[in-house]
Amino acid sequence: MGWITQARGEGTQVDAPQGTIRSYAPATGELLGEVPVMDAERVRDAVARARRAQEAWALLPIEERCERIRRFRDEIVRRADEVVELIARECGKPKAEALTHEVFITADLATWYAREAPRILAPRELDLHLLKHRRAEVLYAPRGVVGIISPWNFPFVIPMGDVLAALVAGNGVVLKPSEVTPLIALKAKELYDAAGLPDDLFSVVTGDGKTGAALIDAGVDKVVFTGGVETGRKVAAACGERLIEATMELGGKAPVIVCDDADLERAARAVVFGGFANSGQVCIGVERVYAQGGIYDRLVERVVALTRELRQGDPLGDVDLGAIIFPPQIDNATRLIEDAVSRGAQLRCGGGRPDREGQFFEPTVLTGCGHDMAVMREEIFGPIVPIMRVTDDEEAIALANDSHLGLAAYVFSADRERARAIAERVRAGMVLVNDVVIGYAVSEAPFGGVKASGYGKIHGAESLRGMCEAKHLGTERIPMPARDPFWFPYQPAMVSGMRRALRAVYARGTLGERIGRLFG
Ligand code: NDP
Repeated sequence: MGWITQARGEGTQVDAPQGTIRSYAPATGELLGEVPVMDAERVRDAVARARRAQEAWALLPIEERCERIRRFRDEIVRRADEVVELIARECGKPKAEALTHEVFITADLATWYAREAPRILAPRELDLHLLKHRRAEVLYAPRGVVGIISPWNFPFVIPMGDVLAALVAGNGVVLKPSEVTPLIALKAKELYDAAGLPDDLFSVVTGDGKTGAALIDAGVDKVVFTGGVETGRKVAAACGERLIEATMELGGKAPVIVCDDADLERAARAVVFGGFANSGQVCIGVERVYAQGGIYDRLVERVVALTRELRQGDPLGDVDLGAIIFPPQIDNATRLIEDAVSRGAQLRCGGGRPDREGQFFEPTVLTGCGHDMAVMREEIFGPIVPIMRVTDDEEAIALANDSHLGLAAYVFSADRERARAIAERVRAGMVLVNDVVIGYAVSEAPFGGVKASGYGKIHGAESLRGMCEAKHLGTERIPMPARDPFWFPYQPAMVSGMRRALRAVYARGTLGERIGRLFG
């Protein structure tokens, strides 16, 4: 067996020949494939080729680009089983999740972008409130080449959502997938090619962190980065240095607030699903639970019972939980559990590696947690649900906001008004009431975090417009004389007229008073 053992960035793997990366199935250790570590020259070449292809692509009517994207979508749908199987093997997640969380959402994003982009990116005429003699439109021009750098936890839907938005908007794309899951990105490229889209317009550069850094330095016009906060800081700094627009999708620490009037069964099932889907390796997964005193004991009991029912094993089989994709996450989970227990938390189930081969970690529930524990403050990114007792809405809101991250949050209450009031006060890019995680599947809604969870949005109209440069195209509605009164030489009459206009238009008063000031 040759699982990846290193912290990434150097591309060194067990058994991998120099200059290559090997991909192993986390559930079995099976060698799935080998890809090259592409150097800066190859990355620059991919960007240059994308730029040449993009010039012709951007000239196509947007309806035509959308039709080609539909063909790509059709290919994804036609070969969904193949994609699902590869995701399950390379990523270690159950096939049910590969289908519903990755392939299905990608198909929906493709469909939605292709249907809505002509409207969202159409030139938009502005209703000018002041300079009535002018006409102003906003045009959405493609940026050029978009560099996309993506993580391993959702190796299909995360990059493909951004690839689709960038292409529809008229850009070329170069994708650098995580070195842990490169084969899925290459499969996506294979489907793209099979759909007959322009070859060089979209390409995949495989490699490690250095390949990602080389992409930022290769002359791209925008970077969409999804990954951890630590890498995100380096990427944001590199983009800032080059003055490249960047969308940063970073970590999360989603709180669940369970009010004492919540539907117990739904809240418990939501906590278990949100905490353990993809073995907890979900940026919007449940990372901490604040249960109010009136429901705490019953919630804990039900969450523990439901967790014990979960089936873990071969992701290609009939299971709820698969493997841990990236081995260092296992050490991290162990550290967080040990720290919590040493500070007084109760380990109610799970807590370690199950008795089976492969990179597995048991679904774990910790109760009696407090904010002095790392498990309540750091991103877990593993199958651990820590639960803390709170007294009321105020305490729950304060604790939910006591985090450097702000990607998602969830509120459970039978009282919609109450839940909404809480949701409005929790600082996060997405807050769902009586649900978890599903917001990512709302193609229409912008997605992205606040605080150290990043900036910029993916999905929705914001994603499409973010892939463009907004351009103000101004024309005259009423022709102005050759000697424009606002140009040189400045005339005393113009200055005194503007002084009167300033007081007439902006100073407070009745309409009569203001008209009087204009002529007075
Ligand atoms: P990393 O930040 O480690 O890596 C993300 C990507 O960046 C990988 O492709 C990585 O390559 C690449 N990379 C590494 N170093 C550099 C560099 N210096 N310059 C450019 N690119 C670089 O994240 P993970 O892959 O570990 O993913 C897990 C993280 O992603 C979690 O924190 C999670 O919360 C976050 N995430 C955020 C989401 C969101 O939408 N906000 C969604 C999903 C995950 P390589 O893998 O080869 O090292």
